[in-house]
Parts: sequence; C-alpha cells; structure tokens
Amino acid sequence: MAKVVLDKTKCIGCGACVANCGVDNGGNFDFGDDNLPVVKNETPTENTQVAVEGCPVEAISIEE
Ligand code: SF4
Repeated sequence: MAKVVLDKTKCIGCGACVANCGVDNGGNFDFGDDNLPVVKNETPTENTQVAVEGCPVEAISIEE
C-alpha cells in the first residue's frame, strides 16, 4: 500500500507541508516535538501531492 514518507535529512523546516496538508485538515503532516514536521498519517490524502510539489527540497515522497 502506498505511504507518505518524509526525509528529515533533507527537510529545512519551512512548514509548507503542514500548511498545505496538515493532519488537522485531513492531511498527513504535523509539527513534532522538535518543531520539524512529521508524518502523522501515512496514508496518501487528497492534498499529499500538493505537499510533495510544494516542498522546496523534495523531501516528501509517496512510496508504493
Ligand atoms: S515542505 Fe519540505 S522542507 Fe518544508 S517543512 Fe515540509 S518537508 Fe520540510
């Protein structure tokens, strides 16, 4: 099953993924204890692709 993956080694913490696809709005991401985004819901949602394309460092992917 497809799942959403966030590569923390690439992430620069811009927050776009939480803004575009936050778990509070039915998306995938939220801020973790270190204030960097984490995947809270691994199942792709309708805004996951927006988050993938909106990440400036290509840290988000959907793995099959
Ligand atoms: S959009 Fe990309 S760089 Fe920005 S916080 Fe999310 S994963 Fe990190």
